[in-house]
Amino acid sequence: MLGLMMADQLRVASVLEHVAKWHGDTEIVSRLPEGSIHRYTYAAARQRSKQLAQALLKAGIQNGDRVGTLAWNTHRHFELYFGVAGIGAVCHTINPRLFPEQLVYIINHAQDRLLFFDLTFLPLVEKLAPLCPKVEKWVLMAGSQHLPATSGLPGLCSYEDLLAAESADYEWPMFDENTACSLCYTSGTTDQPKGVLYSHRSTVLHALSISLPDGLGCSARDVVMPVVPMFHVNAWGLPYAAPLNGAKLVLPGAGMDAASLYELFETEGVTFSAGVPTIWLGLLQFMREGQRRFTTLQRTIVGGSSCPPALMAAFENELGVTITHAWGMTETSPLGTSGHLKAKHRNLTPAESLPIRVKQGRAIFGVDMKIVGDDGRELSQDGVAFGDLLVRGPWVVRDYFGSGTPGELTADGWFRTGDVATIDPDGYMQITDRSKDVIKSGGEWISSIDLENLAVAHPAVAEAAVIGVPSAKWAERPLLVVVRRPGMDVAAQELLDFFRGKVAKFWEPDAVEFVEQLPHTATGKLLKTQLRKDFAGYELP
Ligand code: AMP
Repeated sequence: MLGLMMADQLRVASVLEHVAKWHGDTEIVSRLPEGSIHRYTYAAARQRSKQLAQALLKAGIQNGDRVGTLAWNTHRHFELYFGVAGIGAVCHTINPRLFPEQLVYIINHAQDRLLFFDLTFLPLVEKLAPLCPKVEKWVLMAGSQHLPATSGLPGLCSYEDLLAAESADYEWPMFDENTACSLCYTSGTTDQPKGVLYSHRSTVLHALSISLPDGLGCSARDVVMPVVPMFHVNAWGLPYAAPLNGAKLVLPGAGMDAASLYELFETEGVTFSAGVPTIWLGLLQFMREGQRRFTTLQRTIVGGSSCPPALMAAFENELGVTITHAWGMTETSPLGTSGHLKAKHRNLTPAESLPIRVKQGRAIFGVDMKIVGDDGRELSQDGVAFGDLLVRGPWVVRDYFGSGTPGELTADGWFRTGDVATIDPDGYMQITDRSKDVIKSGGEWISSIDLENLAVAHPAVAEAAVIGVPSAKWAERPLLVVVRRPGMDVAAQELLDFFRGKVAKFWEPDAVEFVEQLPHTATGKLLKTQLRKDFAGYELP
């Protein structure tokens, strides 16, 4: 027997309609790549998203067509999220930090018909356009005064001109909630990038779930500033969760440096933010240098890479800002786990609860997870056994876009994350490595992430990576590769001694190498494949 409740379809346009109706005067503030601060309301955002929708329809965009964006976090990008998806087309956010060859591959693979780009990326798109002949129109996300006098870009026009020609008199069409709404390619450190195609249903359910107090947590009393870019997994869903809850949204544009971020935190009264560890490490240094304080910021989410415990402790003790550690992937929309405490931890001091909170956290409702051994059998959740992390749920990828090959699913329908993790008896998951990065010494696993987290707690270490190098006796041993903090000196032996007593003896790295910088992926993660190439043939002392 079917239930007798209304069968409204979940659509992202309903989120915009909700916020415009019930929080119409709440603001969206953006730092524009053109240099100025733009401020308007959710009611105005709805109007302009509808104007955009009409412009897209006039350009012949139909249900399922891909519309690409190469853009920072701004109100125009927000309008594209809703305007494109609202008509049933697919908003394809592209990471401008990828190599040009990867960008060309992605744009052609997705068959983007239109491409919207920020002023910052004009030189880049001029190089890409001849290699992306399927793009019919390139739209500069700015006013017409910023259009270049000459350009080889087909159909070039300005975003503001496009909108100005349209009215906001438009009703969003109704369609099946399983319709695709956005597309994001993985950064592809080894293979070609792969497209993850989100649906309206997965996006709305994810936004609801991350809004829960033990998800990322979001409310109408929050002022939310996603520092994580809107071109990387939909800024962790915050451009949907903020309007869903009626929170003010602050979008930092291209201003990702600590000074620009701090200025926005303070002038806009930001209470809640989210970003990768690198952002917070930079901000911490900036705050310390100027003995600065946050007046409104209460908490931030750190994810994308492991959050060093020293960073979490410094934010809390020195700046009064709580860091919640979270884990996810492009393939999981992205949120899978977050590291909030349980009632049983209530009496722990912050120092006592730190070892729990530095884990990647508990599964949020909607995501199930388990760890398995090489034989595919589930391992014990004892906080000790390491295994391949598998997940499943309504916002986890089933198959990659246009891949023609099966995705990373097990026979019984779990997604192989490629991460190696432990899960403790309270359900807290801890990532120890990417499966390809695991170090195996004398048959025992060593967590490179744990060693890296420890190394960055040393005052002279700006960044650290640990890779396995061949050893005649142990098969593999850990090598620590370090970038020193500017103006600070430290000897290799001092760093090796730093691990003593903090990890099992056989985990201690055998050697240290100092480098000027470490290789990163386009999303800021350590590129260990490159590092292993750099140190190929390395001989331990
Ligand atoms: P991406 O799809 O680019 O967002 O990358 C997803 C991968 O980033 C995951 O599979 C993890 O390897 C890594 N990752 C994400 N969050 C964390 C975290 N909190 N700690 C450690 N690794 C993380």
